[in-house]
Amino acid sequence: MAEHGVIIRAGEVIDGANRMRFRADVAIDGDRIAAVGDLSDDTAETEIDAAGRIVCPGFIDVHTHDDRMLRDAGDMTPKVSQGVTTVVAGNCGVSLAPLVAAERPMEPLDMVGLEGDYRYPTFAGFVDDLTRRAPASNAALLVGHGTLRLAVMDDTQREATPDETAAMEEKVAEAMASGAVGLSTGLEYPPARRCGTGEVVALAAVAARAGGVYATHMRSYGADARAAFEEAVRVGRDARLPVVISHFHCHADGNPGLCAEALGWYDESRGEGVEVAVDAYPYEASSTSILPRFVEKSAKVLVAWSKPHPETNGRYLHDIAADWGVDAVDAAERLAPGGAIYFGRDEENVKRLMAHPAVLIGSDGIPLNPHPHPRLWGTFPRVLGRYVRDLGLMALEDAIHRMTAASADRFGLRDRGRVETGRHADIVVFDPAAIADRGAYMEPERPAAGIDRVLVNGVEVWNARGHTGAAPGRVVGRRTG
Ligand SMILES: [Zn+2]
Repeated sequence: MAEHGVIIRAGEVIDGANRMRFRADVAIDGDRIAAVGDLSDDTAETEIDAAGRIVCPGFIDVHTHDDRMLRDAGDMTPKVSQGVTTVVAGNCGVSLAPLVAAERPMEPLDMVGLEGDYRYPTFAGFVDDLTRRAPASNAALLVGHGTLRLAVMDDTQREATPDETAAMEEKVAEAMASGAVGLSTGLEYPPARRCGTGEVVALAAVAARAGGVYATHMRSYGADARAAFEEAVRVGRDARLPVVISHFHCHADGNPGLCAEALGWYDESRGEGVEVAVDAYPYEASSTSILPRFVEKSAKVLVAWSKPHPETNGRYLHDIAADWGVDAVDAAERLAPGGAIYFGRDEENVKRLMAHPAVLIGSDGIPLNPHPHPRLWGTFPRVLGRYVRDLGLMALEDAIHRMTAASADRFGLRDRGRVETGRHADIVVFDPAAIADRGAYMEPERPAAGIDRVLVNGVEVWNARGHTGAAPGRVVGRRTG
């Protein structure tokens, strides 16, 4: 007989380790899981009935641009409402630190911060902000290469000099010492397009020495995707660290076969001694800056935001272009700087990615967008509802593994991602028959269905009535648990 803080009773436990579900009670003391098993002799201050429900580790969103939301809107409602208990921020070369910029930064840095948001001479300053005023979810932080380039270079449209590379290396070391889990790049984006692979290897090697990971938005996902993929693997091999390739939807340039081909490169790369994983989200549309070259390749484009024309947020580009009497590319040029949602992916490729054992789930949501892509609110329930339950593409245990333990292992998040005695009590209780995303492209900001309870570090942040107001999140990583 023991007395616990919380017991979640009689649920079907899916522990994250890709094992078959089993019926068990789960006890929590403080921020840790105290016991898993038949606890009918034990009592608790708070008893949660989970009969007919799945009890599993809180989801880890491995691909986010949540840096500013973590700091300024720490309730993290778009994330905790879908069962996400940890977000990996700082992806695609874009992190809010370390950079001081009074003005609005160049794209895509404006994805996570606007005028005055970049105010961190050190990475430690940002970590301090998140520690002083905790968010509702945990945060694992990557330091972004684009941010580093803007911090040390007067002009990013060239290769870095040896002195500039050395200055960036020092900043990576400071970030890693302050709790970052690795380095990210966005090699397709303006701040990094002119950099050489050697510069990336040098910075990644610093992250590697501190046990970090390398997450990359590759130089190309279209015609040059193969070379870009090989560059990512080379960085992992030369710098000796695991690689995560971001939003692995190779689809551009009207070649839907490219996605299957790219998964083939992935399978081949496994023999090369480099650990490579990829992340993806379950939607047929993508979202990023409004760029004329992306507009040219898309069948349909929805405006997420526009600085000069905020009245166009949430409207289709072809309607705006018709109103203005110009073509879509001209309209896109007038709308920039801004963000857009691009349609044109093949659903068969989305299915292929969701079912692949190497694919970790990452939303790539952009909370700063006034009209965000629905992936921000719905990614995890959409995988579990549409792709697991409705389409039957993979086992629930497999999908949950790639949202929890596999993600924690890849990003070095100690003691997270598993329902197991001694681990941190990040837990979701959900109804497998009801779980579903509810957002749509025109109305994206809607909480998911079927999520009953979400606990972060043993504290309930979300239940059937909504957000509890609790903010038990922490900056997490290899050392900070
Ligand atoms: Zn990206």
